[in-house]
Amino acid sequence: MSTSSAQPVVTRFAPSPTGFLHIGSARTALFNWLYAEANGGKMVLRIEDTDRARSTQEATDALIDGLSWLGITWDGGPVSQHARADRHREVVETLLETGKAYRCYATPEELDEMREKARAEKRPPRYDGRWRDRDPSEAPEGIDPVVRIKSPRQGETVVYDAVQGEVHFPNNDLDDLVLLRSDGSPTYMIAVVVDDHDMGVTQIIRGDDHLTNAARQTIIYDALGWNVPDMAHIPLIHGPDGAKLSKRHGALGAEAYRTMGYLPEALRNYLLRLGWSHGDQEYFTLDELLEVFSLSAVGKSAARMDFDKLANMNGHYIREADDSHLVQSMKAILPEIEGGIFYSERWDETREAQLLEAMPGLKERAKTLLDLLDGARFIFLEGKLALEEKAQAILDKDDGAGRAHLAALLPRLEALPDWSLEAVEEETRAYTKDVDAKLGQVAQPIRAATTGRTTSPGVFDVMAVLGRDVCLQRIRDQTG
Ligand code: GLU
Repeated sequence: MSTSSAQPVVTRFAPSPTGFLHIGSARTALFNWLYAEANGGKMVLRIEDTDRARSTQEATDALIDGLSWLGITWDGGPVSQHARADRHREVVETLLETGKAYRCYATPEELDEMREKARAEKRPPRYDGRWRDRDPSEAPEGIDPVVRIKSPRQGETVVYDAVQGEVHFPNNDLDDLVLLRSDGSPTYMIAVVVDDHDMGVTQIIRGDDHLTNAARQTIIYDALGWNVPDMAHIPLIHGPDGAKLSKRHGALGAEAYRTMGYLPEALRNYLLRLGWSHGDQEYFTLDELLEVFSLSAVGKSAARMDFDKLANMNGHYIREADDSHLVQSMKAILPEIEGGIFYSERWDETREAQLLEAMPGLKERAKTLLDLLDGARFIFLEGKLALEEKAQAILDKDDGAGRAHLAALLPRLEALPDWSLEAVEEETRAYTKDVDAKLGQVAQPIRAATTGRTTSPGVFDVMAVLGRDVCLQRIRDQTG
């Protein structure tokens, strides 16, 4: 029933390659990884690539890429389920030998008929077991049989689940499922059982859409006389509207979150908190998690994706992050974001240093790396700036009062012996006082002239980061 707790913990992440790491699968992987790490065990990665049409190397690479980005590690190379097909067949052979499985020669027409009949009688479609006890000598010519498990007809199968509790399945709801198809290929159901057994998996953690499979797999384990691993079926992620997460909600793959400028550590924290809690603590370091993570704190109800919460969490992680780490993360996503080329074409050491200098100011208002890039745009502009409409209006209003301030301030800034944040701030404030203006009446036009916008990090930060030559040239460009 349950594996002994003395065994070393082995979890597994067993995705089917679909071309990306689904965000729900990413959460499953995260739970498996954390559970293994927290219990001094290991997680294995098994690619369930039995659907040969979809299972390309690119699809596997995309999964690995997503996991690596999230910082999820595993033990040993990814194992291909398809490559183990001979072993799966060998195990089915033992079931045939012990009479726990049988060959079924029902034709497609017969199966259709069974389905029709069930529909007419308003029963769920089930195979009726017609070859269960028939002698193989009755096998018709020219039909390649499938192999079916001989499921118990009476009683019930119980799944003991760390999240769902004890779940009872009446056995007459579980028909004799197929283990080998007529072409000899193993089904998902037998492959998973054999692989989990052979890999020494002690704890299965996966989406609760697999709960019925857990009952079916329990029957296979029992037929083989193998221990059933401990189970934990975690609720799926739903969209903000409560419906199962689908394309309609957008952002299905982990890489989409990377492209939207989320930090992997923030997404990890978010996915973990989605349906798992530890008191009312929101943020966890990895060390804290390894200390407190447990499956019993996983909620039973579906987790709803809350993009605002994710963005806020990401903002928190951005503010906490090391500035140079952020600069490198910004650089890393340029090839995959819209408009990234604007930055990558202009990216050089000088600008990298300017970004670092601007980072404390940029971080304050950013929720994503895209916000940071957008806020840092003024660093990347070249030549005479094309001002946004609102910025232009700031210079034009009151008969160009702002422009006049810039013209009057310009020689005082030009005369500064030293160009530091403190120096430009002091001089600008002194000018403001001398002409009896409010700081905003001068600062806003400076911002408009130096960034082309009406919002930016602190205006003195901007001036300092741009440096004397560029800053003065941009002011000159608006006063001439
Ligand atoms: N390959 C299955 C999936 O991606 C998971 C199977 C399992 O975890 O047992 O849904």
